[in-house]
Amino acid sequence: MPSLRARPHAHARARAARSRRSPSCLRRGAGRSSAVANRVPAVARVFVITGPSGVGKGTLIRGLMERLPELELSVSATTRPPRAGEDDGVHYHFLGREDFERRVRAGEFVEHADYAGRSYGTLRSELDGRLRAGVPVVLEIEVQGARQVRETMPEAVQVFIAPPSLDSLRARLVGRGTDDPEEVERRLRVAEQELASQPEFSHVVVNDRLEDALGQLVEIVEGSLGDEGH
Ligand code: ADP
Ligand code: 5GP
Repeated sequence: MPSLRARPHAHARARAARSRRSPSCLRRGAGRSSAVANRVPAVARVFVITGPSGVGKGTLIRGLMERLPELELSVSATTRPPRAGEDDGVHYHFLGREDFERRVRAGEFVEHADYAGRSYGTLRSELDGRLRAGVPVVLEIEVQGARQVRETMPEAVQVFIAPPSLDSLRARLVGRGTDDPEEVERRLRVAEQELASQPEFSHVVVNDRLEDALGQLVEIVEGSLGDEGH
């Protein structure tokens, strides 16, 4: 079964939409001189969506990007092998361990972490151009990475997605069908630690009814995109 991380179609739509709409932070400048409209914003928005594996981050991000097509999703790098239906450069940048570590040493990552025996990270190249152009970027990352982003980009908006219960999280991980039973147990063990980190996050959305959770997430992101001074 293909991974449910929000990916290509949402990405392509976001790109198409961008050609129709200016980045949100410049929208208020519509009708002003091109010198003003073209200025690079001092602060562009980074949205970190975190929470345990299987909680519904990818599903919610897919919905979020349909509702707010100016958002673009950062494609993470990982040393985990691709799942069926995952493409290199689209769902992830799939890297060998040595390549990943070389890039860590070269300072190519904004954040990186080990998760369930594999490495994951956000490449600077996924953020730099977009932020310079004022394009808001969504990062779907685990909690250790979210903490690193909090240190280096305190202006980033961070949202923790929580499950209604551990039992429902297990049911979602099993139901998704992407991980064998051992991997499901490994992810649930990590999840217990991740759930304990909730108080660190100013935004927590419980993904019980999908539509309700999506509505809350859209409200948080839309509210931040609309902030003055952005
Ligand atoms: P994550 O990206 O956090 O690992 P996914 O988005 O892949 O999680 O979702 C894991 C599974 O849970 C998927 O099969 C998805 O369809 C399902 N799911 C997501 N949100 C809900 C929800 N609110 N209620 C029931 N199932 C859900
Ligand atoms: P999966 O193997 O299910 O695709 O991802 C496992 C975990 O790694 C998920 O919690 C996912 O959010 C997280 N993850 C994906 N990309 C990144 C990344 O770039 N950095 C960090 N820190 N975590 C990531």
